[in-house]
Amino acid sequence: MSIFVLKFGGKTISNIEKLRIAAQRVEDCIKSGKKVVVVVSAMADETDKLIEIAADIDGCGYKRELDHLLFTAEVKSAALLSMVLLKMGIKAKSLNFTTLGINTDDNHFSAKVKNVNPERIQTLLDEDIVPVIPGYQGMTDNGEVTTLGRGGSDVTAVAIAAALKADACVLFKDVGAIFNDDPKVSQHVVKYDKITYDTLYDIANRGGKIICRDSIAIARDNNLTISIANPDNFNIGTLISND
Ligand code: ASP
Ligand code: MG
Repeated sequence: MSIFVLKFGGKTISNIEKLRIAAQRVEDCIKSGKKVVVVVSAMADETDKLIEIAADIDGCGYKRELDHLLFTAEVKSAALLSMVLLKMGIKAKSLNFTTLGINTDDNHFSAKVKNVNPERIQTLLDEDIVPVIPGYQGMTDNGEVTTLGRGGSDVTAVAIAAALKADACVLFKDVGAIFNDDPKVSQHVVKYDKITYDTLYDIANRGGKIICRDSIAIARDNNLTISIANPDNFNIGTLISND
């Protein structure tokens, strides 16, 4: 049976209504016969708010403590989305950094993924349970929580999709596609139906924030096609691949 990894960005799950819409996309996918793994970001602006509070204390110098603070925002999203799914009659279970199987280096606040062990996720899938994974977090060899750099939930989705050899990795973004400029700022934007990893990597390098740079590299290394989709209707706006 094919496995779909569905990742919801912060603006697509910023309140209960939007969490319900996200849950409908999960249900669509299950109804079409797929096994679904869900990855979530923090609800919109939550990470920024936590960083602001920490910055008031010490300018965010205590990176280990910062990671302990920040990972909680994604855990909150995962627990809430699991509750919504359960309420809809879909078996779901949220995980956290200790159970989701992402091992990182110990570079707090911008850790790199060293390897992914999707055993626990696979076990849940085998039991027809939807694993709901908080993005942006991993665990060092010493059992410490790390975060994967800003926008790092994309890294989580892509790394897990690659480890599971998933058939699709869909990133739901409020803008629904990749454009040559920010559609919220400029009216004359051009939408990419398709884009290569390399072109997108260049855009990310120049400061484009639509998708996190590290996730593009992981997708390219694993030849994993990423779809950018609109959460309201599942329309695929842009495909990111080698060609
Ligand atoms: N919550 C983290 C951030 O705002 C990670 C993410 O959303 O992907 O950077
Ligand atoms: Mg994000």
